[in-house]
Amino acid sequence: MLLNLTDMLSSEEKTEQKQIPYEADVFESGLESYSILKKTPLALTIQTMGKGKVLLKGKMSLTLSMNCDRCLKEVPYELALDFEEHVSKEEIEAEESEGEEKNFLEGFQLDTEKLIHNEILMNLPMKVLCRKDCKGICKQCGKDLNLGDCGCDDFVPDPRMAMIKDIFHANKEV
Ligand SMILES: [Zn+2]
Ligand SMILES: [Zn+2]
Repeated sequence: MLLNLTDMLSSEEKTEQKQIPYEADVFESGLESYSILKKTPLALTIQTMGKGKVLLKGKMSLTLSMNCDRCLKEVPYELALDFEEHVSKEEIEAEESEGEEKNFLEGFQLDTEKLIHNEILMNLPMKVLCRKDCKGICKQCGKDLNLGDCGCDDFVPDPRMAMIKDIFHANKEV
C-alpha cells in the first residue's frame, strides 16, 4: 500500500494511527522464500516530530514457514516486529535529487509493503531448529534421527589411523 506522507510532513503537530494490511503471502529474502502462515495487519503510528519530520512506529506479528537447519522439517517461526523509522522532508528532497532514497519511499509516498519487507529481513533468525536437541538426519541414509537410530555405520575409517594401527601391530610382533 502507498501512503502519502505529504500532509504529515507539512503539519506541525499531528499523530495518525493506521492498520495496514500486509499483502504478501510469501516472503522472499533474496536467497529463499518462506510461506507466510499467519500475519496481523501492521499497526502504524505516524507522528510529527516538528515541521518536516515524522516518526513511523510499527508493530506487527507474523509466522513464517521455515525449515529446521538440521533435519529440514518445517518449523513455524513467529516474528514480532517492533520498529521505528525517521523520515524527513529534507532527507527525501536531498535523496530524490541524488536518486538514492530509502527503498520504502517513493518521493513522499511510503510503500508499506517494502517497509515491512525490510523489517522482516532484519529480524530473520540466523538459525532455526525444530527443537534445541534436534539430532538431524543421517548423512548416509537420510533418515530423521529424531525418530530413532537408523543403524547405519557412522564410523568413517581414517586412512591415517589405519597406518598407525599397522605400525603398532608391526612393533608388537617383533
Ligand atoms: Zn530438526
Ligand atoms: Zn542412516
